[in-house]
Amino acid sequence: MSVHTGYEPARSCTGAATDGARALMAWFLGAYGSRGGRNLGIYNCRSIAGSSTTSLHGEGRATDLGVPVGAPWAQALADRLVAMSAELGIQCVIYARRIWSGSYPNAGWRPYNGLNAHVDHLHVELSWSGARTLTAATVQRVLGGTPAPVPGARPTIRAGSRGDAVREAQNRLAAHGFGPGAADGVFGPKTTDAAKRFQGARGLAADGIVGPRTWAALLAAPPAPPTPAPTSARPVIRRGAKGDAVREVQRILNAWYPALPRLVVDGDFGAATDARVRHMQRAAGLAVDGVVGPATWRRLLGG
Ligand SMILES: [Zn+2]
Repeated sequence: MSVHTGYEPARSCTGAATDGARALMAWFLGAYGSRGGRNLGIYNCRSIAGSSTTSLHGEGRATDLGVPVGAPWAQALADRLVAMSAELGIQCVIYARRIWSGSYPNAGWRPYNGLNAHVDHLHVELSWSGARTLTAATVQRVLGGTPAPVPGARPTIRAGSRGDAVREAQNRLAAHGFGPGAADGVFGPKTTDAAKRFQGARGLAADGIVGPRTWAALLAAPPAPPTPAPTSARPVIRRGAKGDAVREVQRILNAWYPALPRLVVDGDFGAATDARVRHMQRAAGLAVDGVVGPATWRRLLGG
């Protein structure tokens, strides 16, 4: 639990919401949607009300988390966001005529005199690092609650689809270890292939069409790694290796690919383990060499 230090102002409009801001909103809707939480917007190319300064909404780094006026949970959430701001990459929160900012990280809540009093929403800003890397799963790990928004809110997408929903699906596929390459918002052959493999691994019809059931699986948290320990402690292993590290890889791969034939967890890195490691590396966009080195370990352990 620690407070973010520093403040990166907006320079000019970028054209889109950032992945981190979308993730924060998705988590918020999942955790508080049933209590009146709603999406009051992320990307908006405009100035701050009553000033000529570009709003962080113009860089897609600010979210407006809509709350019922006076809801007790809203202040509690605002306090939690500040307390965990370093973990989440949050640089500013404005709520109910008060502001906390990483410009004055230890000053706590100060009076906010802007034109908009922010009584019906929390304005939450991310640092660039937070905007690039925050995921709904991270928010859930730090704050608890339910990360998944209502799957029905997502359009069914397939080969040929384009846009933000495709980009989100690509990011979620990557988070689950089925990276389709660059998250470019274009549903091409690589995305179709990744979607099919993901569906197969989750016991869904592997048709490459991302509809409500596939969305629900994509928006769920990826399988947790069984042992969260530093990758530096893990040896580089490949075919022919034996021992506990091999056993660990076999266990993780079985958890990742429940639809594929189970590997025998015998600590012996044979042909089947080699093939499964390569399968995982291909899906994750790693070099496909069957060698479990630092990059593959990091991916297997959820880093
Ligand atoms: Zn705002």
